[in-house]
Amino acid sequence: MQEYWKTLLLPNPISTQEIQLPLLEEKGISLAVRRLDQVHDLVSGNKFYKLKYNMEEAKKKGFSTLLTFGGAFSNHIHATAAAARLEGFKSIGIIRGEEIISLNPTLSFAKSEGMQLEFISREDYRKKSCDSFVEKLKEKFGDFYLIPEGGTNALAIAGTKEILSEVDSYYSHITCSIGTGGTFAGLAESIHSDQNLLGFSSLKGDFIHSEINNLLLENQIYPKGKYSIFDNYHFGGYGKSDSKLFDFMQWFYAQTQIPLDPIYTGKMMFGIFDLVRKDFFQKGSSILAIHSGGLQGIAGFNQRMGTKLPV
Ligand SMILES: *Cc1c(COP(=O)(O)O)cnc(C)c1O
Repeated sequence: MQEYWKTLLLPNPISTQEIQLPLLEEKGISLAVRRLDQVHDLVSGNKFYKLKYNMEEAKKKGFSTLLTFGGAFSNHIHATAAAARLEGFKSIGIIRGEEIISLNPTLSFAKSEGMQLEFISREDYRKKSCDSFVEKLKEKFGDFYLIPEGGTNALAIAGTKEILSEVDSYYSHITCSIGTGGTFAGLAESIHSDQNLLGFSSLKGDFIHSEINNLLLENQIYPKGKYSIFDNYHFGGYGKSDSKLFDFMQWFYAQTQIPLDPIYTGKMMFGIFDLVRKDFFQKGSSILAIHSGGLQGIAGFNQRMGTKLPV
């Protein structure tokens, strides 16, 4: 087995891109983007970190099959399919929704990596964490190592804790996108006492605050620095977006040549610039924005929405 992540024990920090823009200069703020989207060709972004110790655990426990859940455009499904193939596991993806006749780019990639796709109704999908439902899946597919939807569990957080390294103590603010919060939790565990962690939720609703607090408690994470979550940059909710967001992403790409995704990192970056304009950040602040990847989904997104977002 190749142990794909060990083949690229990355020089830390991984490529970090400084952003030069008149607005930032005017406000006396520095902004850098940590390009986790470039961490691996196939196992991209934060999913690389979230899968790393789960794969190790599955191997240690002698499993030959991984099973996980996701939507039809899921970055997690995409990454898990690739990681499983690289590590010699069989993989099963339980996909929310009825089977689509022609697979979208995410699912056709997963299939080409050998992932067995199983489509279930939205109603059944809601039961995905019930023991009885998992038991039924085991009757059907045999034994498997279960990775939860979005990949967040204690081992995933052990992985995302490794996103930051000592040299990053330089930054006053670290920012990330939030879906299930596994990335935020790992970062929260590694920030220093004089650092601020800002999370930008892609989901609609203020439930995310208690959800993140529970996740931190369950994992016994007591951040040394301050952390806050913004729940007002979701653009209508998970998977929702609008032309204001697309225009911003196009503008950002034209300025920096950094592509963002419309589900997570586009919303985070929009939020950062909005906060900069509103003088949320003190003069002299140095921001490190974590680019958590997600670019694989853009082809399917453009196809579906008729947009021309850069990849
Ligand atoms: C999955 C994903 C997230 C969300 O990560 P969580 O750990 O679930 O909060 C953020 N950004 C991108 C690009 C993702 O693919």
